[in-house]
This record gives sequence, C-alpha cells and structure tokens, in this order.
Amino acid sequence: MKNRFTLGITTMLLACFAFVGFAQKKDDSKKVLKVLILDGQNNHKWKETTPVLQQIYKSNENFSVDVSTSPGKKGSEEEWDAWRPEFSKYDVVVSNYNGQMWPGEVRSAFVDFVKKGGGFVVVHAADNAFTMWPEYNEMIGLGGWGGRNEKSGPYVYFKDGKQVIDQSEGKGGNHGPQHEFVITNRAEEHPITKGMAAEWLHTKDELYDMMRGPAKNMTVLATAPSEKTKRDEPMLMALTYGEGRVFHTTLGHADYSMLCRGFSDTLLRGTEWAATNEVSVEWSKDFPNKEKISPLEPAK
Ligand code: ZN
Repeated sequence: MKNRFTLGITTMLLACFAFVGFAQKKDDSKKVLKVLILDGQNNHKWKETTPVLQQIYKSNENFSVDVSTSPGKKGSEEEWDAWRPEFSKYDVVVSNYNGQMWPGEVRSAFVDFVKKGGGFVVVHAADNAFTMWPEYNEMIGLGGWGGRNEKSGPYVYFKDGKQVIDQSEGKGGNHGPQHEFVITNRAEEHPITKGMAAEWLHTKDELYDMMRGPAKNMTVLATAPSEKTKRDEPMLMALTYGEGRVFHTTLGHADYSMLCRGFSDTLLRGTEWAATNEVSVEWSKDFPNKEKISPLEPAK
C-alpha cells in the first residue's frame, strides 16, 4: 500500500511539475516586449509619425509601447538635464529622432544598453542623425546627410543581384521624389525576412540611396531600385552591435508611408528580432504583392 501511495504522490507531483513547466513555457512565448520610442526632434513630422508607430505596436498583443520625447531645439539646459530615458526598463528602443546630439549621459547609457544585448530599431531619418557619434554609426550601419562622405564608410548596394561594397568618394545620402516602389527580399533565410514576398509594392515614400557608413556586422535584408544610382539600394538591414541587435528600416518618411502593411509587418518582425533574436510575428494575409500596395487605416 505504502509503495502504491508513494507512486501515486510521485505521479501527481510529476504531473504538477510538468504542468507548471508547460505553463511557464507558454508564458515565456507570450512575453510582452517593451518598446520605447524616442522622438522630440526631427526634420520630419514626428508628431504625425510617432502615433503611427504606436498604432502598429499596439496592433499586436506581443508589444507594449511607451514614448520618450526629448526637449525641442529651444530646450533649456534644465530640460535636457531632466531627459534621461530609462533604456534598461525596455527590451527594445525605436528611434524616430533626428536632431541635436543627446547629452553624454544619455549617449553612454544608450551604448551600454545595446552593447549588453538591448534591441535597437532605426526608422527612416533617424539614420540621418549623429554623423559625429561613432558608436551610433556602427549600430545603424549606413547613414545619410549630415556631412557624411567617404570618411563615414563605404556605399553598400546591390548590382546585378550581388552586394557591392564601394569605397569611392562622394556624399552620403540622397533621395528622389516620393513614389511607390517595389521592395525585393535579399535574405530569405534571415528570421526577419523569412517567408516575406520575394517582391512587394511599398506605399508612397522616399527611396533613400547613396547611403554610407561603417556597415560592420550588417546583413542587407531588402533592397529597392534607385532611378538616380541605377543600383538596388538597401531598404531593410539587420546588424549586431556587442550583444545587441539592430533593425534598420530606411522606410517611413511620413504617416502615409508607414500606413503600409509591408512597413508594419517588417517593423514588427524586425523589432521582435532586435529584442529577442527570434521572430514569431506572422506575415499578414493582406501583405502587398508586386502589383498592389496594401494601405493600413489610420487609427481613429
Ligand atoms: Zn524623409
């Protein structure tokens, strides 16, 4: 009797542990990723685009989103002293910022955050920022404007289906008139772009070309053809920096450029990858194809 009793208890305990183990595993896979968007200065309409970024993160239950807004161009010293985003409370930081250099304390806290494994997502003109900050440029891989030139690093693009690292002299950063353009998947095996349509039509946006930068530890995920350079220019990139990961999207000039299922799906997958090194966000059924854009409704 004693043996059978012991056996019964053991079985029950084992079942309990198995259940707890299963429940914990399930919770882990559902862990909500904490996103912090940085804005406050930009030569773009950040007051219109940050709400679209928020809308996109809020559309998926795996993300929660906060915003930290820096002082404006006329911000006082006291206001800058008071702006200290708490990076370490988040899984991933998203920059919608292109403006004055951050205070040294914020810069070193940010570098520390990414180096130690934090995620970073660079959106559109955030890659115009901080030409003179080497660590930032290493994180974003490629940048434009702000006096960037051959000293910033090579041009990187695709020509005849092959990636080219081009050290030639010249300015960094350019774009033509806004238009809809086709994005090509260049990394079918990367977690972010795995299963992405081979080609899809993006909504009206600026197509950045002639971007240049350190381009270290960088994988070009997707490109689009520039009429000016006649090259396929990087649109989406994945990088590592220290223990951290960076997702760089050059897309997203305006609210209407972000209101695109292609922008939204790639942003969510890129953000999840930057935060966790894995991607579980699924491709939407209404993802655009080569002929047809897939616009999103703005939040009411
Ligand atoms: Zn722009």
